[in-house]
Amino acid sequence: MTIAVVGAGLGGLTLARVLHVNGIDAVVYERESSREARGQGGMLDIHSGQWALREAGLVDGFLAIARGEGQDMRLLESDGTLLLQEDTPEDAPLLRPEVDRADLRALLLDSLPEGTVRWGHAYESADNGVLRFAGGGTAPYDLLVGADGAHSRVRALLTDTRPAHVGQNVVELGIPDVDHTHPDLAAMVGRGTCWVLGDGISLAAQRNGDGRVRVGLSFYDTGEDWFTTSGIPFDDPAATRAHLIRLLADWDPRFTALIAACDDTIRRWPISTLPVGLTWPPAPDVTLVGDAAHLMPPVGEGANMALLDGARLGLALTAHPDDVPTAVREYEREMFDRTSAAARLSADLQELLMSPDAAQRLVAFFQPG
Ligand SMILES: Cc1cc2nc3c(=O)[nH]c(=O)nc-3n(C[C@H](O)[C@H](O)[C@H](O)COP(=O)(O)OP(=O)(O)OC[C@H]3O[C@@H](n4cnc5c(N)ncnc54)[C@H](O)[C@@H]3O)c2cc1C
Repeated sequence: MTIAVVGAGLGGLTLARVLHVNGIDAVVYERESSREARGQGGMLDIHSGQWALREAGLVDGFLAIARGEGQDMRLLESDGTLLLQEDTPEDAPLLRPEVDRADLRALLLDSLPEGTVRWGHAYESADNGVLRFAGGGTAPYDLLVGADGAHSRVRALLTDTRPAHVGQNVVELGIPDVDHTHPDLAAMVGRGTCWVLGDGISLAAQRNGDGRVRVGLSFYDTGEDWFTTSGIPFDDPAATRAHLIRLLADWDPRFTALIAACDDTIRRWPISTLPVGLTWPPAPDVTLVGDAAHLMPPVGEGANMALLDGARLGLALTAHPDDVPTAVREYEREMFDRTSAAARLSADLQELLMSPDAAQRLVAFFQPG
C-alpha cells in the first residue's frame, strides 16, 4: 500500500506518525522548501486533540512544550473596562493548554523517520494512481490524502465546494521580546490572551512561547476585497501601524500603544470557512484530513480536529491494511459526524464574536450560570 499525504501540517504529520508507530510507511509531500521556509504561526489551544497525540506516542513531548499558563484570559472593552480575568492556577490540569504551532509541528516532524517528508513538492494534480507536482515530477499512490490546508487543491478531486469568506479580516502584527522591550505592555497582556472588544473591531493580544506577543486586529462585516479597498498601505509597515492607530482613535491609549510597539512583520488573514456538515461521496483512493476537509473559523477547534483526523485515519488504515476503501469509509463516517459538531460550535461562537453585543455575550459564554 503506497500512501501519499499532501501537506506537512498538523493533520498530515499526525497521520504519518500514527501510521509509523503501527508499522506502516507513508510519504508526505510538502510544498515548502524546508521546515524553516516560513514562519509557522502563533499559539494553538489543544484540548480534544490530545487524544491523537497519545495515539501518536507523543504525549510526553507535548506536555513538555504545552503552556498551561497560556490559558489565562483577560476580556476588556475598548475604553479599558475590565470585564473578565481568569488566571490559571499553577496546579491546574492541562485541559486546554496553548502550544506554539511551530513547536507542535517540530515535535511531529522530529518523530518521523528521515526522508518521510519530501520538501519542495507542490501538488498539482492526480489521477489513476499518479501524483503530479508543480515544475515536473510524479509519484505513485494507492491512497492519496489531501492534508493541504484551507486552500486545498486535492479537495477538488472529491467536491466542487470552496471556502466562502465570513465577513472577517484579520491584520496580524507582533511585538518581539516583549518582556524586555515593553514590560508595561507585557504586564497588561499577561501570560495568555488579552481580548479587547470594540465596535466592529476586536483586538486579541496573545503571548507566544518565544516571548513575542501576537496582536490580531479583526475587522468584522468586511468583504473579501477589504485588504485592497480599506486604504491601509500594507506595503509600508510604519504607515500601516499609523493607519490602524487612527482607526482605534477612541480606544484606551494602552491598546494603541500595543500597535505602536509592533515590528514590521504584518500578516493579512481573510477568514473563510467551508459549509458546516460538508460531505462527499466516498472515493476508493482519495480522502481529506484537517482544514482541507472542514475549514472552520479560528476559534479553537480546527487544529484539534486536524490532529484527530490524522490519528483516526491512521488507525483505520492500521485496522484494514489490505482494504483501503473500507478504511476510508470507516474514517470518513466518524470524521463527518465529529467535525460537523465542531464546525457548528465554531460557527455559533463566530456569530457571537461578530454580534453587536459580543462583549456581554462573551462574558456569559465564559461564565455560564
Ligand atoms: C504557516 C501556517 C501558520 C498558521 N498559523 C496559524 C495560527 O497562528 N493560528 C491558527 O489558529 N491557525 C494557524 N494555521 C492553521 C492551522 O495550522 C490549521 O488550521 C490547523 O492546524 C489544521 O491543520 P491542517 O494540517 O489541516 O493544515 P495546515 O496546518 O494549514 O497545513 C497544511 C500544509 O499543507 C501544505 N500545502 C498546501 N498546499 C500544498 C500543495 N499544493 N502541495 C503540497 N503541500 C501543500 C502547506 O504548506 C502546509 O504545510 C497556520 C497554518 C500554516 C500553514
